Formats: sequence, structure tokens, C-alpha cells
Amino acid sequence: MKEQTDNFPIPVPMQAFIDGQWLDADDGGVFEVTNPSTGTVIAQVADCGVAETLRAIAAAKAAQAGWAKTTAQERSTILRRWRDLMVAQADELALVLTRENGKPLAEAKGEILYGAAYLEWFAEEARRIYGDTIPSPSPTSRIVVIKQPVGVCAAITPWNFPNAMLMRKAGAALAAGCTMIAKPAEDTPLSALLAAKLAQDAGVPPGVFSVIPTSNAAQVGRVLTSSPDVSKITFTGSTNVGRILLKQSAETIKKVSLELGGNAPFIVFDDANLDAALQGAMVAKYRNAGQTCVCANRIYVQRGIYADFARRFTERVRALKVADGEVPGAEIGPLINVAGLEKTERLLQSAVSAGAEVLCGGSPDNAGALFYKPTVLGQVTTDMDIAREEIFGPLAPLIMFDDEEEVIAMANDTDYGLAAYAYTNDLGRAWRVGEGLEYGMVGINEGLISNPVAPFGGVKQSGLGREGSHYGLDDYLEIKYMLMGGLGR
Ligand code: NAP
Repeated sequence: MKEQTDNFPIPVPMQAFIDGQWLDADDGGVFEVTNPSTGTVIAQVADCGVAETLRAIAAAKAAQAGWAKTTAQERSTILRRWRDLMVAQADELALVLTRENGKPLAEAKGEILYGAAYLEWFAEEARRIYGDTIPSPSPTSRIVVIKQPVGVCAAITPWNFPNAMLMRKAGAALAAGCTMIAKPAEDTPLSALLAAKLAQDAGVPPGVFSVIPTSNAAQVGRVLTSSPDVSKITFTGSTNVGRILLKQSAETIKKVSLELGGNAPFIVFDDANLDAALQGAMVAKYRNAGQTCVCANRIYVQRGIYADFARRFTERVRALKVADGEVPGAEIGPLINVAGLEKTERLLQSAVSAGAEVLCGGSPDNAGALFYKPTVLGQVTTDMDIAREEIFGPLAPLIMFDDEEEVIAMANDTDYGLAAYAYTNDLGRAWRVGEGLEYGMVGINEGLISNPVAPFGGVKQSGLGREGSHYGLDDYLEIKYMLMGGLGR
């Protein structure tokens, strides 16, 4: 195994992990991984293409029947061991994650533990894949329902949570008895390769979990979606790419799970606990420098408290520490790449030219080439690009509203439907708003809603299916009905 020790606190694999083996690309090709905080190249990773992808599919197919036959207890024990190894190395894994992604070290450690918590959760759920019996319409037959793994799964995951988005999928797939091939994002393949190393150490058999890094996602994606041997595609990323994968999967009628983009409304009513709402808004907006799918994208504040909220929120945002994620106390790291920075700048400029007011920030930060000052914008209106597109940067647009019906309508006026938040101390309003919001997840008086026991996922163009929770296994299981006939004398 080729590992790199320079730049990292632990050896990090630089090769693809296929069929339990660490392999170079067939042509020896590599791609560079860069630390977005410093611009330094920190790794050169095997660049997989068609041949390596086909090899990973063949290995997963060969391993599928054996893995499906293991007992739930065996799968549970292996997943638990994988989780334990991850937790034991959480500090080192977090530092590697910060170096490839840029997020503050404390957030990176939180992500590793969050990812490990999915392995733990699904280690437990593996033993609860229950079937069913159904009263038969005939006295001479009985009806039984069993659940079986869907088969080989391919996971395509984004750079913003390089560990947790993959563990959320791998935990469920392996618990259900499926094998998995993972294609991590080009910007952040290292956390996935480290996860594969821990899987190997935990006793995951060859072919059951493979990782194929690549700089050519479209090519590898086409191989995975067109293969008749891949039964399911599970994707987390943008709505545009999700749409491409859904179309490509149609040819072979795959099961498809999609965790896509969001445009989360964060609604603060006059009757809310303002301190709690401010705290919730900080967490919901600025985690990972605003680069999460559940980040508050439109902050709606009722007229009576708008000025107070805007003043106090701006004070807090101005105090955020912008720095390389490794600097103690860093709260806002870099954008992931130049495209992320340019998008942030474009959305800011177009909002300002349409009449928005910069309350703080509003420009790149001199901490490094990809840093942007955490920014609050006042007087934003719903027709501005910043209110219609997923921002994915540290910009917080404030929008004033007058009443409940109006704000529910504004919040729902989007193609997205992932996460939404509302702050109110009126119980009736909490229910009306919670039920009225067309979103897969709603936080009432809470800005941090993701956890392994709850179903994560979106409606409308934010996705298909749910991850985590006991519902999260369903997407990896087929239902089989068996009729036992001829029972009469
Ligand atoms: P992205 O461009 O869609 O990339 C996501 C993954 O898809 C990456 O591995 C990427 O590889 C790969 N990819 C890109 N084009 C592809 C193609 N034609 N065929 C196959 N794979 C392809 O998304 P992103 O900008 O990296 O991530 C941010 C997006 O993810 C946001 O929209 C965010 O809301 C969403 N997200 C959603 C959730 C959720 O749970 N709903 C969670 C996190 C993020 P490369 O990076 O190597 O190109």
C-alpha cells in the first residue's frame, strides 16, 4: 500500500481500494489534492477510470452473495468495529479532513464522530431487519414477507462532508447486506480512503466496500449508472448532477436515492425567543462556512423584531474568526475552491446591485485566496438571485415579512424542499408552520437538526429517499413476498 506520511498525522493511502487491495490506476495516473486554506498540494491520489470502475463492480458483484448470507450479528459486529476504529482515531482523521476540506478542526472532529455514529446506528439496526406475516385469503396457504439486500450499490458523495456523507450510506448498505463502491469528490478523496483502510482493519471482506477516487466523475458515473450489475445508485450532491444520474439510471431501472441541494428558509416570528433564534441562525448559517445543504439560505424576520435581530445578528457575525481551520478558535474556513468563491461574490454583487445593503463583510478575506468574510445582507427581496439559488457560502440574506401565511408562501416558493427552520413561542403557530412548510425536515426553535436516529432527506427537487434512522435501511432492502401453499390435508 502506498501511503503518504508528509503533511499528515497518520499515513494516508494514495491508491484506490478495490477488492480488498490497494491499487494504482492502470495507467499510473494521479490527481492532486490541495489544502484550500493554503493552496498547497497535500497529496497525489490514484486517478481511476473505466477499467478500475469495472473491476470494482466485478469485485462487489462477486462478494455480494457471501456478504448477503452473513448473519445480522456478524455484519453488526464488523460495523461496530469499524465505528470503534474511527472513534479511536478521531483526532487524526479530523486533521486530515480539515486539510483537504478547510473546515475548522472542531467541526471536522464533530463530522468524524457524526459519521461514526451512523456506523454505530446501522450496526444496531442490522439486527432489526424484520419481516412480516399477512393473514392469507386462503385456509391452505400462508403469506410471509422477508427483506433482502438490493445488491451492489454505488455511492457518489460530495466534498462538504467527506466522511459523514459516505458513512451514512455505507453503514446502511453494509447493514442491509449490500456491497458498495464509493466514488468520493475529487477535492476530498482522503477521508474516504482512510475510511476504507479502517473498514479493512475492521474485517470488512474484500469487495464489500471499495473506493475509487477519480478526477473524471462524469466518466466513472456513466460506468456505474449503466452497469446492469449495479442495483442501486445513492448520491449526495447538487440537484443538477442528481438529475443526470437519475436519467442515466433509467436505462437499467436502478433504485436511486438522491440527497440534493437546498434553499432553507429560517423564519423568526415576533414572538420568538430572540436569543435562541440568534444562536440557531449562527449555527444554521455558518457551519462549514455556509457550505452545507441544510444551511439557512433565506432568513425571514418579522417586521416588529427585524431591526433588533439584524443589529444583534450582525454583531455576532462580525465577531466570527476567519482562519485556516487548523488555527485554534477558527470559526470560518475557506470556500472549497475558486468556483465556490466566485459564486459567493456573484450572488453578493447581484444582491447589492438589486438594492440589498451590506451590514457586515461583503468581500474576500485576506486570510487566504479562498476565504470570504462572513456577510450579512439587509433589505433582501425574494426575487433576488441570492434568495432563489443555493448560496453555499458565508452570506446571510435577511428578508422582512409581516404575517404567517405570507411567510409560509414565500418559504415554499422554491423548487427545493430539504430543511427549514422556524422560531416561535406560540404552540399553535409552531404546528401550523411545521405542517405548512413543504420540506423534508423542519427545525422548530432549533438550528441543528441532523442526527443518525432521524430521517434525513428532502422533498421536491431536493431528493428521493431518506438516510439515517430506521427508515434509512429501506432504500437498501427489497421486499419479497412468499406464499406457502398446499397446507390443506
Ligand atoms: P456536485 O457537483 O453535484 O458533486 C457531488 C458528487 O458528484 C461529487 O463526487 C462529484 O464529483 C460528483 N459528480 C459531479 N458530476 C458528476 C457526473 N456528471 N456524474 C457523476 N458524478 C458526478 O455537488 P457539490 O457541489 O460537490 O456538493 C454540493 C452540493 O451537494 C450542494 O448542492 C449541496 O446542497 C448538496 N448536498 C446535499 C446533501 C443532502 O444530504 N441533501 C448533503 C451535502 C451536500 P467531483 O467533485 O469529483 O466532480
